[in-house]
Amino acid sequence: MKYKNILVTGGSGFIGSNFIHNILKTENVKIFNIDKLTYAGNNSNHQHLENNNNYSFIKGDVTDKRLINNILKEKSINCVVHFAAESHVDRSIDNPEEFLNTNIYGTYNLLNCSLEHYKSTKEFVFIHISTDEVYGTLLDDESPFIETNQYLPNSPYSASKAASDMLVRAWHHTYGLPTITTNCSNNYGPYQFIEKLIPLTIYNAINYKPITIYGDGSNIRDWLYVDDHCDAIKTIINKGSFGEVYNIGGNNEFKNIDIVNKICEILDYKSPIANKNNSIKLKSYKELITFIPDRPGHDYRYSIDSSKIINSLNWKPAYSFNTGIEKTVSWYLENQDWIKSLDKN
Ligand code: NAD
Repeated sequence: MKYKNILVTGGSGFIGSNFIHNILKTENVKIFNIDKLTYAGNNSNHQHLENNNNYSFIKGDVTDKRLINNILKEKSINCVVHFAAESHVDRSIDNPEEFLNTNIYGTYNLLNCSLEHYKSTKEFVFIHISTDEVYGTLLDDESPFIETNQYLPNSPYSASKAASDMLVRAWHHTYGLPTITTNCSNNYGPYQFIEKLIPLTIYNAINYKPITIYGDGSNIRDWLYVDDHCDAIKTIINKGSFGEVYNIGGNNEFKNIDIVNKICEILDYKSPIANKNNSIKLKSYKELITFIPDRPGHDYRYSIDSSKIINSLNWKPAYSFNTGIEKTVSWYLENQDWIKSLDKN
């Protein structure tokens, strides 16, 4: 990898943690992780890196101009991978302000500091990690999102990410900052905070709590195993073109109810209720499924067309949904202490 000193923002969250583990396994690079450690950030994810000289953690906020300027300069950063964000749609509905602050102002601050730093460094790239939610929602018969789709964000979360994508675009076109934006579909895998559909379903099931699903469970998402996303980001760092946008998806469209049923089926054989607790009168985890009133403005369907990154950069996902979801359920079963460590939240 030509970039040796990489600043990862939000590297203690779900995708950032997986990215750091992935890149340190395969590349000889120095990783500097700046994270504010909100409820979604968890530094125990990186305990095994304590003695790794290629990994450093800095507690801080991406909106802090002085801190970002110092890190870029002192650590001779030549690549920024920007994950840090407020990322949960429900929280954005209840409290949008933090989303505007971190997702929009934080991105602006990183871009501006990066531009200043870029003037004094030869090689530099700013990788902006965004979401397919900026494109809005699809009907069943509409084609998957391509990179030139109109932006039609519907939630405060997706609106804040859309705004940040536009800033990245402007900093490239107006000031010549070398940037690349990725718009990715729903990720799943280890270390995801238990408010999101897949870990929440597993958590509720193994604790015999109601497995809640919004509406009738018919909403469709396109699921990507997180390690495939990390590989796509590494591919983009190495081979992506400045100023470009790449959509990244798993080609795995499923209704939420199908995902939940699948998880229950896996749990039924990996962790059978009968073997665990004689007082629980359930035959299958599916009996815990409970439908609740829908989220306001809930997008019906997301679907990603990944042809551009597949054809131009030769990336493709390695995991089928069946393999990825089995691995994910096993991880949460084997790491219940990690879930307990989230109690601070
Ligand atoms: P996450 O919520 O798990 O992690 C976000 C991390 O950012 C946390 O560690 C948090 O402490 C940190 N953070 C928040 N505000 C900060 C601030 N002001 N300064 C520094 N750090 C701050 O999120 P995630 O699921 O890992 O998503 C990472 C990125 O990927 C986000 O930008 C998100 O929009 C994007 N994305 C996520 C998905 C998905 O399915 N999870 C899909 C597509 C794109």
